[in-house]
Amino acid sequence: MMARRKLVYEGKAKILYEGPEPGTFVQYFKDDATAFNAEKKAVIEGKGVLNNRLSEYFMIGLQSIGIPTHFIKRLNMREQLIRQAEIVPLEVIVRNYAAGTMAKRMGMDEGTQLPRPVVEFSYKDDSLGDPLVPEEYIAAFGWASQQEMDDIVSLALRVNDWMSGVMYGVGIKLIDFKIEVGRVWDNDFPRLILADEISPDSCRLWDIETGQKLDKDVFRRDLGDLADAYTEVAKRLGVLPSNVTHAPTKPTLIN
Ligand code: 5GP
Repeated sequence: MMARRKLVYEGKAKILYEGPEPGTFVQYFKDDATAFNAEKKAVIEGKGVLNNRLSEYFMIGLQSIGIPTHFIKRLNMREQLIRQAEIVPLEVIVRNYAAGTMAKRMGMDEGTQLPRPVVEFSYKDDSLGDPLVPEEYIAAFGWASQQEMDDIVSLALRVNDWMSGVMYGVGIKLIDFKIEVGRVWDNDFPRLILADEISPDSCRLWDIETGQKLDKDVFRRDLGDLADAYTEVAKRLGVLPSNVTHAPTKPTLIN
């Protein structure tokens, strides 16, 4: 189907193709789900479609409050046109409540509210398991300058404020999330933009009332149907009509 397009990069959940204009890529969302550094794998029908739509929704919302992103426009069910950027090799994680690796590392109960949002950095390297790194490493190894790190932290906190508010509005607690940033060059001047995706693959989302998990932990911890959880998030945000399910398997006759 997409054989004539030049593949630029294939990751675990997405593929990048050359875009129609120089400086653009087409980002394709796969149905593949992986966890624990790809030790656990599955194909979840419909996940790519949901993440494409949800990431579009978040990127457009963030752009509307002045956060620069790589998102240009959604092209179809699984693809979006994005601006090419030089990816900073860090996973920028923002946490509002302890969960996941923080809960484990610090011996905290999952769901404990943190005194304030915490931003941390992991070095993006699957072979090392994306290790947590201090800012000293980032500066010393030249992954980002001190000024860029400061800019990344403020960008991440603005994303957190907007995302937390939007989620709270639909009865969901934003526990934590991961973003990636990239550099674009205006002449010789580098500027940071939000890149990659924002979706339930990269966030922890808990229902406020019930505590039900509506994110990739459903897959990581075998808690149920992942596409159902993502569909619930999409419905609440109004990006899917509430009568649509994720499994339209057969064409239906319209009388
Ligand atoms: P933790 O460090 O607790 O595993 O993850 C913190 C947050 O960042 C979670 O919302 C998790 O989904 C996200 N996150 C951390 N590493 C990755 C990653 O490699 N890929 C994705 N998609 N999300 C990640």
